[in-house]
Amino acid sequence: MEYSLKLAHLYGDLLNTYGDIGNILTLQYYAKQMGVSLEADVVSLDEPFDADKYDLFFFGGGQDYEQMIVSKDIQAKKDQLIKFIEDGGPGLAICGGYQLLGQYYIGADGQKIAGISALPHYTKSQDNHRFIGDITIKNEVSQTTYHGFENHNGVTYLGAGEKPLGTVLTGHGNNGEDGGEGAIYNNVYCSYFHGPILARNGQLAKEMLLTALKRKYPTADFSKQEALEIKPTY
Ligand code: GLN
Repeated sequence: MEYSLKLAHLYGDLLNTYGDIGNILTLQYYAKQMGVSLEADVVSLDEPFDADKYDLFFFGGGQDYEQMIVSKDIQAKKDQLIKFIEDGGPGLAICGGYQLLGQYYIGADGQKIAGISALPHYTKSQDNHRFIGDITIKNEVSQTTYHGFENHNGVTYLGAGEKPLGTVLTGHGNNGEDGGEGAIYNNVYCSYFHGPILARNGQLAKEMLLTALKRKYPTADFSKQEALEIKPTY
């Protein structure tokens, strides 16, 4: 392979309830077609996240119990994660991971689970209710339509500097009120889509890989990789 990238799979052994690992398999599937070897490391409890060692990160979803464990540990990784994100490092955070990159998540039992405030959103709890089902959104800027499946108790409200990943066409999205789903901040994408999001929306996987490649190899020509055709899989 001509290029190599390294991905940090944050707490891949704890936040893995919803098959989100399919996102890493999808990244590897497209990476191979782009002439890129993509190595993934699980970075979990008591292990450092080194912003200079990784080219992209993935942070999946899970249950409130695991999120509480991760909430305590991730405070030690906070500074390096913020450094990576502020420096334009690409990442994808789904559901529980999305909530933990923000300020906090009030869990289903009312407990406040601290995030790392890398992104300014916060997440409250619905009263004995979850948003579950198929969802379709559209990003008005890129005109991209995303298809997925949501399953969350949390209701998230975006803050300054964040834009939604898309506007809800069908389904509930971040909070069922403001019509937004997910978040984009710098080169980090957040979403409530399980299913997993990249398997059904390959364009997003391609974008993440291109961002990581251009950041790691600033003088290389990636026009061949940019031309890779992504066939719809939904
Ligand atoms: N436990 C969180 C919630 O219910 C996250 C769930 C998830 O990752 N799907 O909102």
